[in-house]
Amino acid sequence: MTVRVSLGDRSYDITIENGALDRAGELLAPYAARGRFIVVTDRNIVPNQLYRLETSLTAAGIASAVEVLPPGESTKSWAMLEKLTDALLSYGVERGDTIVALGGGVIGDLVGFAASILKRGCRFVQVPTTLLAQVDSSVGGKTAINSKAGKNLIGAFYQPAHVLIDPTTLDTLPPRETRAGYAEVVKYGLIDDADFFAWCEANGAKLLAGDPEARAVAIAKSVGAKARIVGEDERETSGRRALLNLGHTFGHALEAETGFSDRLLHGEAVAAGMALAFRFSAAQGLCPAENARRVTAHIAAAGLPATLQAAGVDADGATLVGHMKHDKKMEGGRLPFLLARGIGQTFLDKQVDLTAVEAFLDAERTATA
Ligand code: ADP
Ligand code: ZN
Repeated sequence: MTVRVSLGDRSYDITIENGALDRAGELLAPYAARGRFIVVTDRNIVPNQLYRLETSLTAAGIASAVEVLPPGESTKSWAMLEKLTDALLSYGVERGDTIVALGGGVIGDLVGFAASILKRGCRFVQVPTTLLAQVDSSVGGKTAINSKAGKNLIGAFYQPAHVLIDPTTLDTLPPRETRAGYAEVVKYGLIDDADFFAWCEANGAKLLAGDPEARAVAIAKSVGAKARIVGEDERETSGRRALLNLGHTFGHALEAETGFSDRLLHGEAVAAGMALAFRFSAAQGLCPAENARRVTAHIAAAGLPATLQAAGVDADGATLVGHMKHDKKMEGGRLPFLLARGIGQTFLDKQVDLTAVEAFLDAERTATA
């Protein structure tokens, strides 16, 4: 199926198809009319998925070069950006060429940013290979690297020319990475689609076990929601796109506390963050306690952390709120929070009292799901 992201002259299609990677030569042929392809990927993807793309491009007669980077968050650095742009320039990249990001969010974010600045903008195509990248980061044009001051602080909005999603690439993804990506799937239900959250409760286990049909439904639903929200608010100015940050402010504090390391993956932090956002909303009398319980239960049932303890975080409220204050969404000393009036009823609250958040997190320190 095809989902369109409608952004005027920056509009593009997202193709979702089992086996799309083996048909990439055919599906991406229009971009080969005037130039070559340069595929950028990471070392873990080489043995698992790269050969499928290369075979398909070769069969379609599309010339391609490959640049392989080390895996992991530390690849989103100035040093790697320099290495990558130097490599692309040494290939003699031209405006008619297409840069293909084959990988998870790390590759997508770095390659997208490199494409945005290389020769003031080169065409790039996203071929996401993690569940997180397929349902979230490959769509919408956010690109970035990290700096000493924090994650994703250097970057640009730069839309891809096409997104090619092949759910079968997830067959080789480690289960922990699949679970982490699933948190962002659940997020779309919690934001504004209670029926989809109920679908997740009924089908999440199947999806996590690799059921192709459940996986395809979840990806299509998530991508559709993301494309719609991005079409309404490309640059996060109206508040619509901000809804996608549900669970991310609490989550960011947990990631900071665990050093943005493998101790807690981004999706795991978001899972705990969404459970915390719902319990905080319930504690504030905004949301029925029963809804917060359902959210907590589903996250835990998916094998994701729903509490500070499960996330491996032992810190007081003041410490965690201290991390939140470094969030790039801080506005004049206030931090906008995504809270909920219920499942599928997320809203942006710009008036949250950080001392209430602190007290809530102190009480959460010993909570278990
Ligand atoms: P995310 O997409 O969550 O931001 P990364 O880009 O860091 O995460 O990818 C997570 C890990 O999974 C990395 O170690 C990456 O090399 C690996 N990986 C990505 N896609 C696949 C795949 N399809 N099969 C196996 N490993 C993969
Ligand atoms: Zn996220």
